[in-house]
Amino acid sequence: MAQPTGDIADAIIIGGGPVGSYAASSLAKLGIKATVFEEHSQIGLPSHCAGHISIRSLKNFNLYPLPNGLVENTFRTANFYSSTGMKFSIHLKRPVTAAVNRARFDQYLANQAQTAGAKYVLNSCVQSLITKEGFVKGINIQRSEEKLEKVYSKIILDAEGISSRLLRQAGLAALNSKGIVYAVEAEVKGAQDVESDAVEVYFGKAYAPGFYGWLIPRLDGTAKLGLATNKGNPREFLRELIERHPVASKQLGLAKITITSYHAITLGGPIERAYTNGFLAVGDCASQVKPSTGGGVIFGLTCAKIAAETASMALKKDDVSSDFLQIYQKRCGDMLNFDFSVMLRLRQFLNSLSDEKIDQMMRVLGKLGVDRSLSDVEEIDFQGKLVLKILGKPSMLIAMAYFVMLYLSANA
Ligand SMILES: Cc1cc2nc3c(=O)[nH]c(=O)nc-3n(C[C@H](O)[C@H](O)[C@H](O)COP(=O)(O)OP(=O)(O)OC[C@H]3O[C@@H](n4cnc5c(N)ncnc54)[C@H](O)[C@@H]3O)c2cc1C
Repeated sequence: MAQPTGDIADAIIIGGGPVGSYAASSLAKLGIKATVFEEHSQIGLPSHCAGHISIRSLKNFNLYPLPNGLVENTFRTANFYSSTGMKFSIHLKRPVTAAVNRARFDQYLANQAQTAGAKYVLNSCVQSLITKEGFVKGINIQRSEEKLEKVYSKIILDAEGISSRLLRQAGLAALNSKGIVYAVEAEVKGAQDVESDAVEVYFGKAYAPGFYGWLIPRLDGTAKLGLATNKGNPREFLRELIERHPVASKQLGLAKITITSYHAITLGGPIERAYTNGFLAVGDCASQVKPSTGGGVIFGLTCAKIAAETASMALKKDDVSSDFLQIYQKRCGDMLNFDFSVMLRLRQFLNSLSDEKIDQMMRVLGKLGVDRSLSDVEEIDFQGKLVLKILGKPSMLIAMAYFVMLYLSANA
């Protein structure tokens, strides 16, 4: 990894997560001198993500197949449980998702960016932005105990993740706090009765209000367990899930579980404005995350590519004003806004349901044969477009009508 050389990059990227690295790669491939500043000493660590990603979307980014050792498992089944243990399963014809080792995935993206020509500066926490005459012009970085160091550049891409401290300094609105859920992730050894190609999802206000719990098995017999909630302490809810949930308690009762991390997930949909003079926000810090599932890697990479293309055009035209950079927001919106609005409604719908209604819903979905109607699904990221596609199937139309009724009665 390079240390600062004193020469000024065309573009600075704050944060060496997947989104920052993908932006750096895309910029470097467009011939832009890009430097990534990452506060930690190693890319990808500490890790805070289940790394459950759609195979089709990875392929769209030429990121699949991944090198050996990065993919921990692939999945063609999802088992959903209500708080009483009612089960609804979807079995797909072929694996549609992969669990990746997130630390190694991030390192792979950073290596790709460096191969393309981007520079990385580690152990460098960006403390603040340098602003002059209404334009963001550079950053103040703190390395170890040394005094702040100034680095200037023509454009800054902020990919700092959910902390989004610098976003506020740029004068942009903070993330919607109502859309934030708090997650805990744990490592599991010795889970019982778990199918190796199935992801387990546990719903219910009693165990994970405002989100759900998950268990993602690896092929080596270990698994990633997690849960997020919009109230209370996620660790306490995870303990409840392990001890009392009718299914999870049997799967996890004898397992060895170590809690590894706590982190927040932003589900409020993208921020209204992710650009200002000389500055673009991308990834979690712009809340480019699926409100339904909290998956942020694919939408983050999608917007990172658009951000890099916009920055490259701006640099070539020598115009980094917000008037020019607004095309970034427009292009991201054209690509994702429909899916975001469907997923936001889906999240509101799920949050509105009582545990009894979730039970009822699972029973009805099974009776309608919705599981069979979904068996040929391959696209799981763009859920708005997915809904439009599957509405052609009679059972799905009835299910949608039922969802609407359930939603109205839940909110009555
Ligand atoms: C428990 C949990 C499970 C998840 N599971 C999934 C999943 O299965 N699938 C999925 O798609 N998404 C998942 N997500 C969401 C996913 O982790 C994020 O959407 C994704 O990491 C966003 O990437 P990013 O690069 O924007 O931010 P991050 O991955 O958070 O990277 C930001 C980087 O910026 C660095 N940084 C921050 N501030 C500074 C600073 N001031 N100076 C320098 N560097 C800085 C950080 O150290 C970090 O390396 C999960 C999230 C959580 C919390």
